Amino acid sequence: MQQATAVVLAPQDAVEADLLCHAFVTSGKRDRLMPMPPEVETLLPGVFFCDPLDGLSSGAAAAVKVAGWLHQLAEQPKPIAASVDPHRCRACKTCIDICELGAPQLVGEEPQRHSWIDPMICSGCASCAARCPSGAITAGDATDEQLDAMLAAVLKADDRNAGQKAVVFTCNWDAYRGLEAAGRQHASYTPWIYPLKVMCLGRLNPGILLSAFYLGADGVLLLGCAPEECHYTFGNQRAQETFDLTRRLMQLLGHANKCLVLDRIAADDAESWVSKIQTFMDGLNGGGQQHG
Ligand code: SF4
Ligand code: SF4
Repeated sequence: MQQATAVVLAPQDAVEADLLCHAFVTSGKRDRLMPMPPEVETLLPGVFFCDPLDGLSSGAAAAVKVAGWLHQLAEQPKPIAASVDPHRCRACKTCIDICELGAPQLVGEEPQRHSWIDPMICSGCASCAARCPSGAITAGDATDEQLDAMLAAVLKADDRNAGQKAVVFTCNWDAYRGLEAAGRQHASYTPWIYPLKVMCLGRLNPGILLSAFYLGADGVLLLGCAPEECHYTFGNQRAQETFDLTRRLMQLLGHANKCLVLDRIAADDAESWVSKIQTFMDGLNGGGQQHG
């Protein structure tokens, strides 16, 4: 049996709502915590919100949501949640600093003290797995080895392709929905891109991105959610940090001729998807300069 506590925020008025927002929201965006009615869920797991202008109905809705959330206690932990191997963990606290949801915590006594990720809170972005210096965290969606295997599979020699090969990492949210929208609309774009979906671009690390180049990609495009729309609130920032570090590493390793781009896209925007893919491929075929 797992334990969890739900919090229902019920401000009396807009002023109190703003104070609560500032106390809880790390992105600085009010609408992260207070979605428009009738929504009562926030992006913080276990934190619910009652609209002060409609306390009666939003209170009832919050009660239903809380009941549903707590009901998960009777279920198995979310398969998407990251997990820690306590034997590899060095209790360095990196994961605690990375996760703005507060899912990892140190448990146990020295010398066996180690991190543990609360599966009720973890939303599976895997940003912590990308940065654990001990490789102690396993991402819920795909391990590094599985991502490497997927890269190798999509980049294996293809005699039909005389042009440049590009891997497009998409997050599971706005970017992937852009790809799906393009598919639904039968939009036309180059077949020489190889899309790979991860839950969040924050899940990637320089090792995975460099692997793509070593396995044969001429370019790597990272497509994530639009600014301030990150499903995990902090994944966009983690992706930017990884991108900046990888670019520096590429220059040091003599791969400055390879093309690595980080871009964002709104959900369901098929036109933008096609345009960004085309622009990226044009840049790749025109010399492959790195840009951000
Ligand atoms: S980042 Fe890795 S090694 Fe550090 S505390 Fe978390 S799980 Fe342990
Ligand atoms: S996977 Fe994401 S949400 Fe889960 S503990 Fe790691 S950083 Fe936090």
